[in-house]
Amino acid sequence: MTRASLLERRDRALGAGAQLFYTTPLTIVRGEGVCLFDDEGRRYVDMYNNVPCVGHGHPRVAEAMARQQGLLNVHNRYLHEGIVAFAERLSALHGPAIESVVFCCSGTEANEVAIRMARFATGRRGIVCTNATYHGNSELVGSLTRVGAGRPANPEARAFPFPEKLRPPAPGLSDDALTEAFLEKLGEAIAQLEAAGVGLAALIVCSIFANEGLPDAPRGFMGRAARMVREAGGVVIADEVQAGYGRTGRWWGYGVTEFSPDIVVTGKPMGAGLPLAATAASRSLVEGFRAKTRYFNTFASTPLQAAVGMTVLDIIEDERLIENAAKVGGALKAALAERKPRCARIGDVRGHGLFIGIEMVKDGGDNSPDRAAAIDLVDRLKEKGFLTSNAGAFGNVVKIRPPLTFAMSDAEAFLEAFDATLADIDG
Ligand code: PMP
Repeated sequence: MTRASLLERRDRALGAGAQLFYTTPLTIVRGEGVCLFDDEGRRYVDMYNNVPCVGHGHPRVAEAMARQQGLLNVHNRYLHEGIVAFAERLSALHGPAIESVVFCCSGTEANEVAIRMARFATGRRGIVCTNATYHGNSELVGSLTRVGAGRPANPEARAFPFPEKLRPPAPGLSDDALTEAFLEKLGEAIAQLEAAGVGLAALIVCSIFANEGLPDAPRGFMGRAARMVREAGGVVIADEVQAGYGRTGRWWGYGVTEFSPDIVVTGKPMGAGLPLAATAASRSLVEGFRAKTRYFNTFASTPLQAAVGMTVLDIIEDERLIENAAKVGGALKAALAERKPRCARIGDVRGHGLFIGIEMVKDGGDNSPDRAAAIDLVDRLKEKGFLTSNAGAFGNVVKIRPPLTFAMSDAEAFLEAFDATLADIDG
């Protein structure tokens, strides 16, 4: 079957508008480790997918999935030691403030649970988020996407500008002054919610501002922001759907940006492809939520989720994948940063561990975002066998976020292709 005919069938079967990556889409049929293979047997290095955090087709994940499915998989209204043990292990990966877990099937659901939990705990409704975030696609959580930027306004949500250094509110500000400037904006958002009579229930942020484009927040911002939110009576929700599970070279993104959340949301990599997400918090927050909702989720908190989730944690620890993310990601980021002075279109290289953003800008020295250049680079890298994508507030950040098994040799091969691609672009 040709790609064109599959595209046509897809448009009919899924409805036109279902998203596809790359100007010329890829037909992927198999994955192994950090590699994906297309229908013609061509091998690509996957530098995008964080769901298969332990690598595509990991035999231990496949074995755990098959074994548990063959033994037992039921909804969660029976006692099951595996589920309890998984929740205990997950909580223990945080500080003592995180004690209990509500399991879900997607990041969206887990964020929805987190927001409702915060609302029950505070008795208030208002949510503050950044102005370029994405936390999911339900009506409530989706209403936080680009709040105030042309979408119907959610009267119970306010955005503040995401903290960053590349395009500061005024030139030449020190880290401390930048922190103050962004805190002032956060304070204004909280005050607006209070003035509107809804009050502050929660701040929800991706701990490393992934969808905003991985900006470098001024040091100390998130710690101060969390304090401001608590002083205003709100709860701090860390969305670790992208930032967590070792991605940054630490277990949690909030360790990188140095704050302590009240509620932690995890998703994508937890089940290595099995739908598995979680909202973790203090016992009192979780019990406050359970008391008000009698929350039940057919496919969440099952023996299958627990068995696979446990295996993913085992692999991350046994294969020392967090150390790998820190080492390989650190080296790759440094090597990419070395290339910045050689290429005027690279405005910035940022990131943490195996999550790196290359910000593409227009010539002119004013860091004007160049989305077309990012898309072009992504397409060209794909042709050379390396899969990335573009993201960020302006869509101009080349996003590098491979499975955590990405090796130094993969980074070296990528750098070679990256240099060749830049040379192609320069003609
Ligand atoms: N939070 C963040 C930070 C995300 O990036 C995403 C998805 N990209 C979500 C939540 C939503 O997760 P899901 O697609 O599993 O609903």
